[in-house]
Amino acid sequence: MSRHFNFAAGPAALPLPVLERVADEMSDWNGEGASVMELSHRGKAFEALAAKIEANLRALLAIPEDYAVLFLQGGAAQHFVQIPMNIAGPDASADYVLTGHWSERAERAASQICTTRVAATSAASGYRGLPAADGYDFDPNAAYVHLTPNETIHGVEFHGLPDTGSVPLVADMSSTLLSRPLEVSRYGILYACAQKNIGPSGLVLLIIRRDLLARSPASLPEIFRYDRHAANGSMLNTPPTFAWYVAGLVFDWLRDQGGLAAMAELNQAKSAALYAAIDASGGFYSNPVDPEARSWMNVPFRLHDESLDALFMSEAKAQGLIGLKGHRVVGGMRASLYNAMPMAGAQALIGFMADFARRHG
Ligand SMILES: *Cc1c(COP(=O)(O)O)cnc(C)c1O
Repeated sequence: MSRHFNFAAGPAALPLPVLERVADEMSDWNGEGASVMELSHRGKAFEALAAKIEANLRALLAIPEDYAVLFLQGGAAQHFVQIPMNIAGPDASADYVLTGHWSERAERAASQICTTRVAATSAASGYRGLPAADGYDFDPNAAYVHLTPNETIHGVEFHGLPDTGSVPLVADMSSTLLSRPLEVSRYGILYACAQKNIGPSGLVLLIIRRDLLARSPASLPEIFRYDRHAANGSMLNTPPTFAWYVAGLVFDWLRDQGGLAAMAELNQAKSAALYAAIDASGGFYSNPVDPEARSWMNVPFRLHDESLDALFMSEAKAQGLIGLKGHRVVGGMRASLYNAMPMAGAQALIGFMADFARRHG
């Protein structure tokens, strides 16, 4: 049995050294005589681990002191709702930038909590790019502006941010957080489910500027309040301790790889090589996204003849390349190239694609 190159969009591949360490420590973590998932989150050992993990994340992302880091649950989808509950409320309006499936979902969910307004959208292009630079119409009185920096399904990514003035920017970074350095102070809230680029599912990271915590309404049930989670070290109730621990091992691995600058270099190189191969395939493969907005993380592509899709996937699997089926919303194929995908994996895929095209072109 060998380990495959896994291109799944999420849950996605984790670094092998992380999995091996988890396996090593499975029955006896930290000399406790028990697995980390069998220990109290309120015990000294787990509390020390949680503090160390937060410190490591702060170092990786250079998170300023005026931001709180929360380790939450519910997936990104729960926070589509919980964010307006905390920082908008029923009488407020929030601006949404629509660039694909996930930003649409976020807007629709938030519209049940507050007024939502579409400040910009690239729907007319079929989400093959970003809104034009002059296509943004922000409301200066909005409670926040919501943006999805990387659209995991459409493969559309911002490589620069629109200026939202003094309105806090809220970003769903589920498929891009930790893929490169970023300037945290440009955001009011950064949030991400873990299962793309951070760790196992069940965990959500939410990084919030502390002044926004004061917006949580007292009328909101405590379990939904970000200020209460922050005040309780993300242990208002039992947190997903195992996923938290694995994410911590991923942070250690990232540091050992050279941090986020090294990841950015690798991620850009992997995606550039794959896009170049698609563009050079003479139309056998195609990616519909405006080259300026192409994602480093998720590369959707189609075969010129969709009747070859099933054969493509079964031959790929036989070569140890898995997780290539596109999302049902857009069809075709998708290769996700998160941090844990090495250059050798991208190259194996590119080699297979060229060979497949030669045989079936
Ligand atoms: C995967 C994903 C989500 C949904 O995450 P869940 O944890 O399943 O709720 C939301 N936004 C983006 C950008 C995603 O990639």
